[in-house]
Amino acid sequence: MSDAVAARLAAVNARIARAVESARRPPGSVRLLAVSKTKPEADVRVAYAAGQRDFGENYVQELVDKAAALVDLEGIRWHMIGHLQRNKVRHVVKLVSAVHTVDSVRLAEELGKRAADSGRGPLTTLVEVNVGGEAQKSGCGPDELGPVLAAVERAPGLALSGLMTVPPHTDDPAGARPFFDRLVALRDAHGGATRLPELSMGMTHDLEHAIFAGATWVRVGTAIFGERD
Ligand SMILES: *Cc1c(COP(=O)(O)O)cnc(C)c1O
Repeated sequence: MSDAVAARLAAVNARIARAVESARRPPGSVRLLAVSKTKPEADVRVAYAAGQRDFGENYVQELVDKAAALVDLEGIRWHMIGHLQRNKVRHVVKLVSAVHTVDSVRLAEELGKRAADSGRGPLTTLVEVNVGGEAQKSGCGPDELGPVLAAVERAPGLALSGLMTVPPHTDDPAGARPFFDRLVALRDAHGGATRLPELSMGMTHDLEHAIFAGATWVRVGTAIFGERD
């Protein structure tokens, strides 16, 4: 089990390195966020021992429990990548190094206030965009992006870092590419890489396409930790 996690982590890092090279992007320009949701702490320990430091979680309670159980892992960085409700913000604000899923002015304001009050440093914040316009998905609509970005910049406790998206599922991974390109176009329309240096996009299925489109963070679960129940 643990050997499998270490081997799969190495395989994912190799996939990323190959895609970065084929896309003629600088080595190290794409970072791996290991998505450990629903997986046991022991698997996180194995990935950490193999050098992984950034981990993504989707659910507040699971993040709180795992961060507490793994507090001995020095330098581990937790990223919130699931939908965040305003009434849960206070539970995560001191635990996470980044939130990838701010999608409303009200959430930006609450997160910014809690981050500032907590005395932690500025919280790295990405704004999630629902590029596919799917009703069941979180993320702000492209037309709401301007006000949400402005709210993040206004918030004293937040540091605006970039954009994040989860494209609609397509059986062919190449089907995600137009949605990744749409996120890039939105970044370009809202200040470009100077204002929004990070693009969090690409998962197990389609990370190469995300890297070709310009991802700086890929969020990978299944290819590292195996299928989820
Ligand atoms: C679960 C999840 C991932 C990882 O997906 P895999 O297909 O398992 O790599 C990435 N991003 C988000 C937002 C997720 O919820």
